[in-house]
Amino acid sequence: MTESSQDIPNSNSQPETIPSIPIEFVSEDEMALIEAAYAATRPTLSSSISSSICSPSSRFQTNTRTIQSIALLSKRALNGSGELDMEDSDRLKNAQKRIRVTQPFLHRFRRKRALWVTDITATEWCEKQMEFSLVSGKRKTSKAMKAGKARHVELEEEVVKKVKVRVESVEDSWALKFINFITCANQLLFEGLTREIPLVGFVEGIWLVGIIDELRMPETGSDRNPIIVDTKTRVRDSLPAEAQRRNGRLQLMCYKYLWDTLVADSFPSGQFFDFFSLNRNYILSEDIRERTANAGFPAKTLDDMIQYYINTCSMLPSSQDRLLLRYELQKDQSVIGEDQFAYDPEWLKNQIKINLELLLGEREASYTPEEERWKCRHCQFASVCPGNPNPNSPPSSSSSSDQNSSSN
Ligand code: SF4
Repeated sequence: MTESSQDIPNSNSQPETIPSIPIEFVSEDEMALIEAAYAATRPTLSSSISSSICSPSSRFQTNTRTIQSIALLSKRALNGSGELDMEDSDRLKNAQKRIRVTQPFLHRFRRKRALWVTDITATEWCEKQMEFSLVSGKRKTSKAMKAGKARHVELEEEVVKKVKVRVESVEDSWALKFINFITCANQLLFEGLTREIPLVGFVEGIWLVGIIDELRMPETGSDRNPIIVDTKTRVRDSLPAEAQRRNGRLQLMCYKYLWDTLVADSFPSGQFFDFFSLNRNYILSEDIRERTANAGFPAKTLDDMIQYYINTCSMLPSSQDRLLLRYELQKDQSVIGEDQFAYDPEWLKNQIKINLELLLGEREASYTPEEERWKCRHCQFASVCPGNPNPNSPPSSSSSSDQNSSSN
């Protein structure tokens, strides 16, 4: 591993020159799967798990990514093949009947787990589809969506170097998220650009997590507020329909809300430990302790790590009100177009509220609006959904990645 020197905040918020710290890298979907696997194995988790991590490097340096065995295992355990077969169909129909008498989705499927920004955007896309996904545990990933994810890995590898770290507990995995964040924050401050920044915050009464594609400092002027950028890859050489652009805007606004809350408010660490049932005094794995010590923020416990996270957040500026969605053609990575738009806090909070009404069981899931039923043609649950106007037509797979394909 080649390490570069950079300034890292210490507990006294005094920058000092020290070697950079490796950080964990996994996609948001993978993180969800890892967390689910941890949640499932927590009572018996005793063996060590290897996880891959990255360190910031000079821009455009390419490195090999280490596959995470836990992600693969959890995928197998949770979803099987990802295809919807006859048995699944019957199970879904029966589950639908039981939905009204069971617990709210948030408690059933996100118990002691944070909500992902993609949970919010998926619900906005089609509430019924989200309900089917939660109940069946199946979220189909198309070939083109995989290509989109691969592109995000490429983009990240332009600015970070991945290394491996040993993870032995849920507390270790959380510590890695905070190490990722601190490393990205420093990269942003000292290099003006960072990618795949993991966020963990408490907003609107819920724990929300997400991964920002890219944060950029303005290149000119005195403005030192970063702009949040997200890149969507597309199969077709055209901008997406308004429904998709709206969904992308919602995603970026969620990130801005999370980021700005993190840098402005104090992180509720007590609530964090309680909600996720974490031991604040847990001694982090030797590997993590060694790496944090080398990086200049020697964290012995998860509580130490949280303090460094809080210190780092307090040094960061809020993000710009202007947000940027980029649309890139998958086949040659040319830019199809860019959508710059303004943050709309009222609209965002209303969207989160509508989402939470459903997830908290205050109302039933709606089908996507009549004028957006074209989404049904690309929906994996089209054959069992009463809202689909053409239930006998086979689902289209040709451009499913161009539908609600957000990967983070
Ligand atoms: S078939 Fe249409 S209405 Fe039904 S879940 Fe899928 S997108 Fe939503």
